Amino acid sequence: MKRITFIILVIGLAILSACASDTETTSQGKTSSTNKENEEQEQPSEGEKPDEDKLTEEDAGEEVVEDDPPVEAQYTISENWSLIPLEEGINEDIVLLTIDDAPDENAVEMASTLKELDAGAIFFVNGHFIDTPEEEEMLKEIHEMGFMIGNHTFSHATLPEISEEEQKEEIISLSDRIEEIIGERPLFFRAPHGANTDYAIKVAEEEGMTVMNWTYGYDYFQPYMDAEKLAEAMISGEGPEVDVPYSLLKPGANLLMHDREWTAEALPRIVEGLREKGYEMLDPALIETK
Ligand SMILES: [Zn+2]
Repeated sequence: MKRITFIILVIGLAILSACASDTETTSQGKTSSTNKENEEQEQPSEGEKPDEDKLTEEDAGEEVVEDDPPVEAQYTISENWSLIPLEEGINEDIVLLTIDDAPDENAVEMASTLKELDAGAIFFVNGHFIDTPEEEEMLKEIHEMGFMIGNHTFSHATLPEISEEEQKEEIISLSDRIEEIIGERPLFFRAPHGANTDYAIKVAEEEGMTVMNWTYGYDYFQPYMDAEKLAEAMISGEGPEVDVPYSLLKPGANLLMHDREWTAEALPRIVEGLREKGYEMLDPALIETK
């Protein structure tokens, strides 16, 4: 009898924790809508193919030193999280695409779409999305398609609400995990909900990461959970249904999107629409890092 009770208890706990993560994902969107979060983006460049070899070799337990040719930084992140050229003569009409809360259901498809469109992006990932072999595979795929992988904390924690020790664990354990899977540590950090703490920023920077929030995004607001409306909002920069009746689209805009069905569907239109407006999708490898 005791054993049965114990088993029921364990099953109950498992269900509870599953619910907890659903809530977390959902509540992120809500919190995001009140906090303007910023996130960074990275770009899928064709030049990163060697990573595949590296991954394979690492799987075999060998240490491989990668020699990617160094890319000279052309942009830096401003105080309001937009991307600005480091020198005159560099195109300022760029936007950065970033995809948060990956890799959940749509990230691989989103990466394929972006690769086809030759548009760079940063995928900010969470540890709870890369804890099964299938999910690890998705992360590898995204990385191997040439996209930059960023740290978005292990469990999508709201950093100001947890202890310093926990913040450190949220950040470093995820970088460790990412390195185990793709063979390199992330270069960018974005706090869930854009809620940074001085301590978390210090930890991220000590870890060699550059911190970024974002300048605008609409896919986590209820009225824009629709591909057509989202595409229009992202391309115009305007979100009249969430009190943004003016355009936030400016040179260097840092665009926040998420691993969501409607965003995946809107993505080709968003990229094409921004290009029609004269914006280039920035290769995240051109962003200055710490
Ligand atoms: Zn998030």
